[in-house]
Amino acid sequence: MAERLQKVMAQAGVASRRASEKMILDGKVKVNGKVVTQLGMKVTGNDAVEVNGKLIEQAETKEYFLFYKPRGVISAVKDDKGRKVVTDYFSDIPVRLYPVGRLDYDTSGLLIMTNDGKLANMLMHPRYKIEKTYVAKVKGIPTNDDLKHLRLGVKLDAKHKSAPAKAKILSSDRRSDTAIVSLTIHEGRYHQVKLMLEKVGHPVKKLKREKYGFLTLDGLTAGQFRPLSHNEIRSLE
Ligand code: URA
Repeated sequence: MAERLQKVMAQAGVASRRASEKMILDGKVKVNGKVVTQLGMKVTGNDAVEVNGKLIEQAETKEYFLFYKPRGVISAVKDDKGRKVVTDYFSDIPVRLYPVGRLDYDTSGLLIMTNDGKLANMLMHPRYKIEKTYVAKVKGIPTNDDLKHLRLGVKLDAKHKSAPAKAKILSSDRRSDTAIVSLTIHEGRYHQVKLMLEKVGHPVKKLKREKYGFLTLDGLTAGQFRPLSHNEIRSLE
């Protein structure tokens, strides 16, 4: 995010904002090698800011993106086997982003990408109970009992049961014996949605995350991303 030059200088500990403004007006500040003497310029973490000929250490600006992860991409910053990773889509963004949580390799959908570790940790913490809505194509057509089971909680393993969830059938097809199910959960256990549906007898054939809290994929196609707005970031915090 671009910030006013005097703010960036103050944050880097050069001087107060007022004193930094004076330094700019006095011609002591260069941005990318050029002297700046007017107030109002905005810079990002990529711009080289020099004060009295010395480069200042800028804190990396915090960036936040909403990404529509395609299927067949790893939710990581690198992969030993050379498979495509989510950060490959952000090669033009000059900060080191990472995904907030993960989606399986074969799951598509909404993933937040940021370099703000504090926010990422907060969002991933179970205490915040952020609702995530998944749409799954499943084998078979869930009965009302299956849906009730999903809503009340499914035993995932010897120790864990899923918390109450929202579950509904969006459509079903008798000929192919499949259904499209919407499942909203606020936990994030490993393979949780696949496990929940499998445990009620309806293995997942295809999975997509459509919502993360109040955020949706509206306006994006797989592989695209957009920056989060200030208001969206503030609402997440
Ligand atoms: N649950 C799953 O099973 N897989 C995902 O990718 C996300 C949630």
